[in-house]
Amino acid sequence: MHEMALAASVLDIVEATAHRDGAAQVRAVCLEIGALSQVEPDALRFCFDVVTRGSLAERARLEIVITPGAAWCMPCGRTVALPALGAPCPHCGAYQLTVSQGDAMRAREIEVA
Ligand SMILES: [Zn+2]
Repeated sequence: MHEMALAASVLDIVEATAHRDGAAQVRAVCLEIGALSQVEPDALRFCFDVVTRGSLAERARLEIVITPGAAWCMPCGRTVALPALGAPCPHCGAYQLTVSQGDAMRAREIEVA
């Protein structure tokens, strides 16, 4: 379950931010997850609850925003929307695509007390 490793890395970022700001508690964390990142939001929520136990982020609200996927299509010569990994170009049907957006996860906002 790679969500556990992701949740742990999110906690690292959250704790670093809280320490930098001198915060005693983290109220909320907003994460952006790319539609192509193969991260399961429900699994990540569960793992986040587990890894934050006993930390500054215990009981922090976790908001997850899914960002759309996009890829560069060679035949079209432009960036196209990509709903899922392995899907063809919605314009020409080709599979010569290079994912350019939506394959990563990042912390958008961390609310501390
Ligand atoms: Zn295309």
